[in-house]
Formats: sequence, C-alpha cells, structure tokens
Amino acid sequence: MNTLPIEQTCFWLARRPPPDPQPKLRGVHNADLVVVGAGFTGLWTALFLRELNPQLDIAIVEQGGAAHGASGRNAGMLAETVDHSHGLASEHFGNEEASRLARIGRENITEMLSFLARYQVDCDYEPTGRMFVALTEAHIRSLNDQVAAAAQLGIFDHQLLSAQQTQEELHSPLYRGGLVVPGGGVLDPVKLVEGLRRVALAQGIRLFEHSPAERLESDGSCVRVVAANGAIRAPRVIVALSAYTHRLLPRVIHRFIPLYDYVTVSEPLTRAQLESIGWRRRQGVTDMRNFFLYYRLTADNRILWGTSEAVYYRGNRVGDECDHSPEHRAHLRASFRQHFPQLSGLEFPYSWGGPICATTRLTPFFGSAFDGRVTYGLGFTGHGLGTTRLAGRILAHLALAQPHEYLALSLVRRPPFPYPPEPLRGLAVSLVTRALRRVDNGEPPNLLLRMLAKFGIGFSS
Ligand SMILES: Cc1cc2nc3c(=O)[nH]c(=O)nc-3n(C[C@H](O)[C@H](O)[C@H](O)COP(=O)(O)OP(=O)(O)OC[C@H]3O[C@@H](n4cnc5c(N)ncnc54)[C@H](O)[C@@H]3O)c2cc1C
Repeated sequence: MNTLPIEQTCFWLARRPPPDPQPKLRGVHNADLVVVGAGFTGLWTALFLRELNPQLDIAIVEQGGAAHGASGRNAGMLAETVDHSHGLASEHFGNEEASRLARIGRENITEMLSFLARYQVDCDYEPTGRMFVALTEAHIRSLNDQVAAAAQLGIFDHQLLSAQQTQEELHSPLYRGGLVVPGGGVLDPVKLVEGLRRVALAQGIRLFEHSPAERLESDGSCVRVVAANGAIRAPRVIVALSAYTHRLLPRVIHRFIPLYDYVTVSEPLTRAQLESIGWRRRQGVTDMRNFFLYYRLTADNRILWGTSEAVYYRGNRVGDECDHSPEHRAHLRASFRQHFPQLSGLEFPYSWGGPICATTRLTPFFGSAFDGRVTYGLGFTGHGLGTTRLAGRILAHLALAQPHEYLALSLVRRPPFPYPPEPLRGLAVSLVTRALRRVDNGEPPNLLLRMLAKFGIGFSS
C-alpha cells in the first residue's frame, strides 16, 4: 500500500515549486467575510467577492496548502457543460433551462479564459475540445442520443465519427465510434490554483494555510471559524469544502455523498510512442460506460488515465487514508494495456485519488446555515473545473445578497433528492454500483436503475 503523501504521488502537486508560505491561523482575527477551503470554489468565490466589493476584508482558511483537495488532484479536463451532458440537463431541468445552462456554461469558459489571459495565469491550457468514444453498439446509440439532445437545444456542432475515423484520431483497436465535441480543453489544475491564489493574494485577500477549521460557532451577529490555535470571526462565512463539507456542517451530508476518484500518470512518451497512438489533436477522451475511463495527454506528453468508478468509504470517510487504492491502480493499468497494446510496456510512476462530492442529480447544490450567516455550495462531482467558477459567482452573490441571473436557476433554488443515511447509504451504493457494472458488461438496466432513472437520480463521478 502506497503511504507516501499526496504531494509526492500526485503528478501535478509533485511538480509544483514551493509556494510562498502563508501564515497559519493563530490568535483571534476579524474579517468581513471568511471563506473556508482554498480549492477552485473557495478561490473563485473570494475573487468574485472582491470584484463585487473592493473594500471588503476577505480571508480564506485552508486545512493544507491551496489545492490540497480535488482541485489539485484532478485530470484537468475542462468541459463547457454545467450538467454532465446536455441530455442530463434537459432531464433534470427541462429544455428551456438546459438551453440557458448551455449558454451559461459556454460563457463561463470564455470568461475564465479571458481572466487567465488578463492575469497572465499560465496553466498549460490547450483548447483541444473533447472526444467521446464508443466501445459497444449501445455506446454508439448513446453518442447519437447526445447529438440529438444537443440539437434539441439548438447546438449543432457535435460531430459523429465512424469506427475508422475514431481510430484515426487515436489508435485503439477497441473504438467502435466517436463523437467530437468542440469547446473546453485540457490544463494543469495545480497551475490554475496557483494562478488564482496569486491573484487573490495580490488583491489583498488574506489566506491562512495549514489551519484545519475544527468547527463553526455562533458569535453574536457573527460566525466564528475555529481552528486548533486560533479563530476568525465574520458576519458572513462561505463554506467551500466540497467532499469535506460535513466536517463543519454535519447535517448537509444527507444532500451529498463523498466519493474517491482515482487516476494514474505515465512516464513521458517518446516521439515514436506518441506516433504509435496518433492523438494529434490531443483531446481529452471519455468513453461511454457508466463507469467511464477518461484520459488526456499532459503538456510533456505523459498519459493521464483515470476511472470514474469512484469509491464510497463507509461512514462518509474522507482523508489521507483514502488517497491510494491498489485495486484501482491495477485496474487502470490493465485497462490502459487493453486500449493501447502498442504501449503495453509504458510505466505509470504516479497514481493517486481525490475526494469528490456528488448530489443525486450530479449538479451543484447551494444552501445556508446559521440563520443565513453561513452559505455553502457543493456537488461538482468529477466535473468541477468549470462549474466551480459558476459556483464562486453564485456563492459571492448569495453571501452579499446581490442579485444575479444565476440565482434564478433551478439548481440554485431547488435542492436535489436526498441520499439515505448510513447504514442504508453504504448498502444502496453497493447495490447501484453492482447494477451499473452489469450494464457496463452488456446487460440491460435492472429494475433498481430504471426506478432511479425515473426519479432523475444518478450515481457516478
Ligand atoms: C481524480 C479526480 C479527477 C477529476 N477530474 C476532473 C476533470 O478532469 N475535470 C473536471 O472538471 N473535474 C474533475 N474533477 C473534479 C474537480 O477536481 C472538483 O469538482 C473540484 O476540484 C472541486 O473543487 P472544490 O474547490 O469545490 O473542492 P476541493 O478542491 O476539494 O476544495 C476543498 C478544500 O477544502 C479544504 N478543507 C477541507 N477540510 C477543511 C477544513 N476543515 N478546514 C479548512 N479547509 C478544509 C481542502 O483541503 C480543499 O483544499 C476530478 C476530481 C478528482 C478527484
């Protein structure tokens, strides 16, 4: 079992130059607004708060260094859609709102890219678009459904590929068809976090790192964020803890489930190895299984290979002990060799996992606690690179009670269907996981899956 710290096993984190250290939370401090968590959500939220009110004294409290959570450990595949797909958005929210979400998702990425250009954040972004691949006839039908769902929303830029065309893009003998979806691309997530952190510090936002918040306490009209050796109080607190939210807000756990996603990264490919697989357009690739594989090239031509077969650790456990899964590591290597037998000797020196947070409808969810003084947003699943920026804007407007078009969205106003508590939760996850695996092995969805689909309930990362 690999027990090395995530800073050594995660490819992105291992290559990060030591960041300028920020203080720990010691003694008692005051602020106008405190954000807990320095992942994408926390950092974007702080930046939007600053934009809305340049006078505010804003502080962020983070348990590790910025990017310690999923934001520093993900695959860096940036999608334009807010929901996992246009089809799911229509199912969850109806066509009209799905259309709005499609527009908002596109605008969000455009704005994000202009932010990166404006503040000279270099995160190795490559605007590659995405490619979905079919491994079975049923997957080809799903690709056709994706095209139809997009067309229903007036989006006609998806391009279906035959088996041969897909294999020309990327030389795997397993491909039976493909779909090219323009928009989005691939990036280095830690460089993105570092860029957001640098801009936040330059804008006078205070950051306390290596200071796990232990609890929230009511303090007159304020809320106090209490850590081991200090506390900070503010009239408004924003909890941006994603899969760790229940540590400070235990009651929110019925709205989400913490899951662990696992990935592995290879040594750099030689020119000949790269030529043996094609991949000239360098798109992020996702297959059409329930528990899909996702993969991309890094800037130095390594392959990042990940699976959405996420693990639920009973009792809603999140922590360092979940960072490695030898079983997933072995499964990832075996599936890679099946896809690319021409690279069967390729070594994968980096493997790690990270905590994500899913709601039953696979889209973010927002709420408040402490009589409205605490606001939270979570539920970005394995799809948070773009949606955490939207969430940051939503959280900033909610906390400052400022109007914004996004606050009228159903995903802001309507909570998702709850998850059952333990011990039912663990049992439900095992049953659904087994049923989804059977579908991935070619069986039709069983009664349980059909029922869940009827209620718009999903389980995936
Ligand atoms: C393996 C993997 C692959 C993924 N691939 C992709 C992808 O390709 N594309 C995509 O769009 N999304 C992907 N995701 C999902 C994406 O990374 C997340 O949706 C996103 O990073 C969530 O950001 P966040 O800021 O809400 O959460 P986090 O980044 O988890 O931030 C929460 C922060 O809170 C801190 N914290 C926790 N407890 C405390 C406490 N008590 N006090 C203070 N701070 C605390 C944590 O250290 C962490 O920094 C992937 C995720 C994983 C794990």
